[in-house]
Amino acid sequence: MNYKILFLILDGIGDHGNRELFYGKTPLEAAKKPNIDKLCRNSECGLVYPVDIGVVPGSDTGHLALLGYDPYKYYRGRGIFEALGLGINLEPGDIAFRVNFATVSEDGTILDRRAQRNDFGIENILSDFKGIVENVEEEYNVEIIIKKGVEHRGVLVIRGLDSEKVKEIDKHKENEKVSKVEPLEEGAKKTAEVLNTLLENFYKFANNHEINKERKNLGLLPVNYMLIRGSSKFIPVPEKELFYEKYNLKGIFIAGAPMYLGVAKYVGLDTYKPPGATGTVNTSLISKAEAAIKKRDEYDIVFTHIKATDSLSHDRKPKEKKNFIERVDEDFFSRVKEEFDIIVVTGDHSTSSIWGMHIPDPVPLMIYSPINRKDSVKNFAERKCHKGILGHIKGTSIIKIILSKIGKAEWFGT
Ligand code: ZN
Ligand code: ZN
Repeated sequence: MNYKILFLILDGIGDHGNRELFYGKTPLEAAKKPNIDKLCRNSECGLVYPVDIGVVPGSDTGHLALLGYDPYKYYRGRGIFEALGLGINLEPGDIAFRVNFATVSEDGTILDRRAQRNDFGIENILSDFKGIVENVEEEYNVEIIIKKGVEHRGVLVIRGLDSEKVKEIDKHKENEKVSKVEPLEEGAKKTAEVLNTLLENFYKFANNHEINKERKNLGLLPVNYMLIRGSSKFIPVPEKELFYEKYNLKGIFIAGAPMYLGVAKYVGLDTYKPPGATGTVNTSLISKAEAAIKKRDEYDIVFTHIKATDSLSHDRKPKEKKNFIERVDEDFFSRVKEEFDIIVVTGDHSTSSIWGMHIPDPVPLMIYSPINRKDSVKNFAERKCHKGILGHIKGTSIIKIILSKIGKAEWFGT
């Protein structure tokens, strides 16, 4: 039989129990989600340590694990995922950084790491900055790509350098002086030099650009700095380890935000960003459901990523997180529940909406398949799924369990 698999990833879905809002329940435990829970009753459940017990996963490492790739072996830093996700064709050895277009004062103090999340004029500045980029390329014999993403976000790729090991200058803090890029090893001296030249030139150029006068007239802070982080070098996954070769499943990854699409591309999955998928609370969940159903005909496994569960936790909004989960159930899950043979629901990590940060606590997991050893778990939630038959597993095991549900498990022995 040709099974069709849906793998739903609710970013940062696990949480802390919250006495103030839910009498000690987590947002997922408090949410009313009849569609998910109905399927949960016929599923096998468990808890997942996406990376490992006691380790706080990033969204990047968490996703690598869920896709069946040991993050300790395959993780190379965030920059390359952002670059791949924005459609840049990376070459082996390329060095990539995540960029925040930011506001820095005359004396070098970081005023706003995100330039008020307002991207007015950034494209114009980048397009006019090209001449200076060419000079830097010539001076250091490198190739430079700068690309804007959503809002204040972007990527910087440099081709022709040896080492990506430099100290990052975006420390997630404001009202501090912006520091110079420093090499962390001998071979990274040139990398630091190129970056410092580029960033200094960008500041001088952008700060005096007429767009920033317009921004001022609009009551906006200037965009005049590129804060870089997520330093990484592109070392492609060997061909025989790419997703299809490794698991013999044709897969696609549906998401709104570039980084997730980038992780998927890195392991060889096809990717799709549906219309209206924004990676925010306002994302169109209906559009995502329709996309998942449409892609099912072409693919064996359709990964679908939903981001806002994590964002709302970072913003410390547990009530809104609970409401959003209810929307996922109604707008997304009700539409897809009967369209696939196998449905997996889990997350890439837990995010505490009390602390506003990722936590190492395990994430609930349910795997529905037509023939299974369904357990006694009736609700998809942290303190229900722990009684499930799948037990407590690591993120990389999920894909192996899926293979076992379709008769493709690895055979060892005679
Ligand atoms: Zn995440
Ligand atoms: Zn997060």
